[in-house]
Amino acid sequence: MQALEALESNVRSYSRSFPAVFTRAHGSIMITEEGRKIIDFLSGAGALNYGHNNHGIKAAIAEYLASDAVVHGLDMATPARLEFMETFSSFILRQRDLQYRFQFTGPTGANAIEAALKLSRKVTGRQNIVSFTHGYHGMSVGALAASGNRFYRTGSGVPLSGATFMPYDGYLGPGVDTSDYLRMVLLDKSSGVDSPAAVLVETVQGEGGINVAGKEWLRSIQAIARDAGALFIVDDVQMGCGRTGNFFSFEFAALSPDIIVMSKSLSGYGLPLSMLLIKDGLDAWRPGEHTGTFRGNNLALVSATAAVNSYWRNETFSQEVQRKGELMRSRLEAIASAHGNGFFVRGRGMALGFDCQRGELAEATARKAFDKGLIVERCGADDEVVKFLPALTIDDETLNEGLEIFEESLAETLRGLSGPSPR
Ligand SMILES: *Cc1c(COP(=O)(O)O)cnc(C)c1O
Repeated sequence: MQALEALESNVRSYSRSFPAVFTRAHGSIMITEEGRKIIDFLSGAGALNYGHNNHGIKAAIAEYLASDAVVHGLDMATPARLEFMETFSSFILRQRDLQYRFQFTGPTGANAIEAALKLSRKVTGRQNIVSFTHGYHGMSVGALAASGNRFYRTGSGVPLSGATFMPYDGYLGPGVDTSDYLRMVLLDKSSGVDSPAAVLVETVQGEGGINVAGKEWLRSIQAIARDAGALFIVDDVQMGCGRTGNFFSFEFAALSPDIIVMSKSLSGYGLPLSMLLIKDGLDAWRPGEHTGTFRGNNLALVSATAAVNSYWRNETFSQEVQRKGELMRSRLEAIASAHGNGFFVRGRGMALGFDCQRGELAEATARKAFDKGLIVERCGADDEVVKFLPALTIDDETLNEGLEIFEESLAETLRGLSGPSPR
């Protein structure tokens, strides 16, 4: 760790929250160089929905590497590329009556968001992007302009422009439907809000605090976007690939986004892979107009195909995720009510947040949890929400063990914070 401190930029972050050297990992367990086994409820911030080194997926890429097939070929045609699009089309899109074209972007989520915003601006001839309070879309300047967090925004060093923030579902309290406000300002020619090229939304805000948008609200936002002549973009970078219980996070609301942004768990193995799914009539790109060296890396496409084949050919996996999500929710709700007042549990599927209301309580709890063998991350404006993103493939025993460690850590932290009793 000392060598790391000497060598690596001050910007490093997770090695501070989880101070250990990790040597191996399998499924939901990470192993440190001292041989300590730690349960992983962070899952690469949602990039490891199928766990670390998933053996089925690994076999596919090991075989691909062993055969000297093309690993890097820019966006030249390869069987791996074709097979991914065919597999994804049959088992993900066609089964859901969806029809989209694939655009492989640079490998990060932010790369894909940039491409989506650029395409929306090109299609509509407009500049403004409507995004939402507490939204998170990545660190590049265009994506950051649409992200709420002040700490990150300040770090950009340039004026962030081109986005207008609207209140997310629930932002003004449970009694207010914030989509009414969006409708008003977009239809009012004198509202001061420029007509948007796109409305960009997460169905559950992962970094923003596990804020959950309701079905009706999402449907309104989509309808308002259409009425305003804007593209409707769902950022499914973190909540896609089964995290909320279905492959896409918007299926429960039967949305039909113009563009779907996918990354994080898309490759199924933690390999970088990002893409846009674009509705047929909106593919306005000219050949080569948006480019990049690492668009659709073949190795990642092979693992992505294996992930679809392993988990998404029928409903079984999705039902399992929903079952485990319910298990987590009821356990966390029991913890919330057992340990005092003011704790809230939010989320959908296996993306759950435990709102501690106070950043320092969440921080101390997460730190204690790590000492006891659990990796959990925090999110929200003050990092006041403990975030649970276990691998979707986790077994019940490990899941319960992790939740147990969380409860002990919270209880001990609360006892510590209340201090010695006065005499
Ligand atoms: C992580 C994330 C991004 C950015 O992805 P990177 O790969 O970190 O650039 C964008 N949107 C959402 C919702 C994310 O969770």
